Amino acid sequence: MEVDTETKMKPASTSFEPEFNVDFLRIYYDKAFPYDLMFKWLSYFKLGSDSEEQGDTVMLQSLREEDVKSEYFYNREFSFTLENDVYCRYLCFKSPEEFKETLVSRTPHKIDIGAVFNIPPKNHLSTEKKVFIPKEKEMVFDIDMTDYDNVRTCCTGAKVCPKCWAYMACATKVLNQALTEDFGFKAMLWVFSGRRGIHCWIADEEARSMSNEMRSAVTEYMFLAVGNEQSSGLELNYPLHPALNRAYQYLKTKFEQIIIRDQELLEHAPHQNKFIKLLPAKDREQMTIAFQRSKSGEERWAKYDAALKVLEAADKKVS
Ligand SMILES: [Zn+2]
Repeated sequence: MEVDTETKMKPASTSFEPEFNVDFLRIYYDKAFPYDLMFKWLSYFKLGSDSEEQGDTVMLQSLREEDVKSEYFYNREFSFTLENDVYCRYLCFKSPEEFKETLVSRTPHKIDIGAVFNIPPKNHLSTEKKVFIPKEKEMVFDIDMTDYDNVRTCCTGAKVCPKCWAYMACATKVLNQALTEDFGFKAMLWVFSGRRGIHCWIADEEARSMSNEMRSAVTEYMFLAVGNEQSSGLELNYPLHPALNRAYQYLKTKFEQIIIRDQELLEHAPHQNKFIKLLPAKDREQMTIAFQRSKSGEERWAKYDAALKVLEAADKKVS
């Protein structure tokens, strides 16, 4: 009897792909996907046809549809990315049951949660463009691991390990404090993006109903121009804005562990050079010599830290 080694070998090599497996995905949608929780979240207790916008005639048309468990949920746009990057927009669901039925049968590889519109998104073509209007959407912040490539020595791109994840943990803490203490948001949902980052969904009613201008204003408040070796450092105004000072006070407790010890950033010549270029021009030469005479990243940091303390003491004397 002849054994087809090719075929015999195949099940062992292709039956299990930890990266991605469409059969597992279908089982996940059938048995594990949290439909009821998703529905509970995305309907925000606005059940049935009890909508705030009953005066809207277009809305009233959609209320006549049967089996709609939450008008608010039904008016939410979902988009699917199917196999071979086929992208479907304007999907919407009357109930968690219909949501499940569709997910199991179409097995999307990716689901995007869009805005809540004034009418069910699937009817967007049956109406004049101007009356298909996005009404609400959670505000979403996206923290991407690749943003830290400049200060990562352990991984690059989509690769993540516990050492560089520490950057994400810091970013989460800083962002969370600003959102809760400065804006008073309470309903934040932090989720792993599935690949290389974290998303924060702010679901408070105030956040959901914000205009684009308000969203930009919140983002701008959080934005701090990033200094790099080309722009020779980041100029900050002192005294620091209270939000910046709060972030600084927290981050300086993490700095040595993450940057100096875990990432060993000052062990590597390219990073040493980047660091030197971030310093004021007058201090660069002295620090370059000090760095060259040091044996380790920790020693380099200690020398910089000592030099900084001397400068700070001198500044205090002058003032
Ligand atoms: Zn890493």
